[in-house]
Amino acid sequence: MDKRVYNFSAGPATLPEKVLRKVQEELLDYKNYGMSIIEMSHRSNEVKSLVEETENLVKELLSVPGDDYKVLFMQGGATSQFYMVPQNILKSGDSASYILTGSFAKKAYEEAVKMGNINIAADMKDNNYSRIPDFEELDFGGNPAYIHLTSNNTIYGTQWKSMPETSRIPIAADMSSDIMSYPIDMKNMGIIYAGAQKNLGPAGVTLVIIKKELLENIPESLPNMNRYDVIAEADSLFNTPPVYAIYVMKLVLEWVKEMGGLDKIDKLNKEKAGFIYEVIDNSNGFYKGHARKEDRSVMNIPFRLKDEILENKFLEEAEKNDLMGLKGHRSVGGIRASIYNAMPADGCKALADFMKDFYQKNK
Ligand code: PMP
Repeated sequence: MDKRVYNFSAGPATLPEKVLRKVQEELLDYKNYGMSIIEMSHRSNEVKSLVEETENLVKELLSVPGDDYKVLFMQGGATSQFYMVPQNILKSGDSASYILTGSFAKKAYEEAVKMGNINIAADMKDNNYSRIPDFEELDFGGNPAYIHLTSNNTIYGTQWKSMPETSRIPIAADMSSDIMSYPIDMKNMGIIYAGAQKNLGPAGVTLVIIKKELLENIPESLPNMNRYDVIAEADSLFNTPPVYAIYVMKLVLEWVKEMGGLDKIDKLNKEKAGFIYEVIDNSNGFYKGHARKEDRSVMNIPFRLKDEILENKFLEEAEKNDLMGLKGHRSVGGIRASIYNAMPADGCKALADFMKDFYQKNK
């Protein structure tokens, strides 16, 4: 039996063990072809159906109305979407509105201002991104072509509990760190994008779900690889796609389905996060969570201890207990527990127990 630790890394992140075993089992001989899926031509029927089946699973699990949206598998990570979204969707003379709730939201904004007229609907910097803005704080400024937000702030551990009402203005959502962790209301969603390496699979593929009407009138001047309409037209096989990453994503999505789908996963995720938040809340300030309580993320839980010496001790002892990847992001420090879909409830319980024990010994 291979040794498996609990990996709380923010991404690349832990994957379901069942998926990894399936990858291992099929690596040399995929479905009796006598070769691996990653050795096959991307023009083969096998790879074409792999892409199609993965697209169908995305639609099924997220209840995406199939006729209205197209699912794309792209490259360049979520970071490339920061410029591709405005490049493709923002027409000359139009504006877009960005909600700044953390580092990645800000990065998306900074790329977008290079492309056109962008306003800031709200900026949560003043409270160090510890909360999601209330609806009344949002100023979308006129009639933006789209409103951009980051559904879950991986570094600061805040999460939108529901999408803001945008009166039919399409939302462009970076869902890199909470995609497939709860059901989404697609009503106002124009485009959703997510790097795969947290809830979907290995790094190397970026999931894009785009409303078909946004595929119209994309500027001809854009390079083909950056054009959503070109990639859509080719069913994500415009050039050689990241077959391995798509293959693992398909296995992960099958696992999500087996787990009972997104309602079930959502419930489980909330229970998992609850084990850890409960310890933070009952620690008399020994553990200090970063986010405002009502905006706390179910995926990333950043918290601090009294000082860095104690935090380092915490990390060292956690590792001795096979609780890995808990060091906070370099920009905020401290500790961060990332507990995506594939983190088992037992991993969260083990961390919560460790935290209780550490509190008793060091309070
Ligand atoms: N957006 C969010 C919310 C993220 O968490 C990350 C990565 N941690 C990114 C964007 C950047 O993604 P990538 O590395 O895939 O470009």
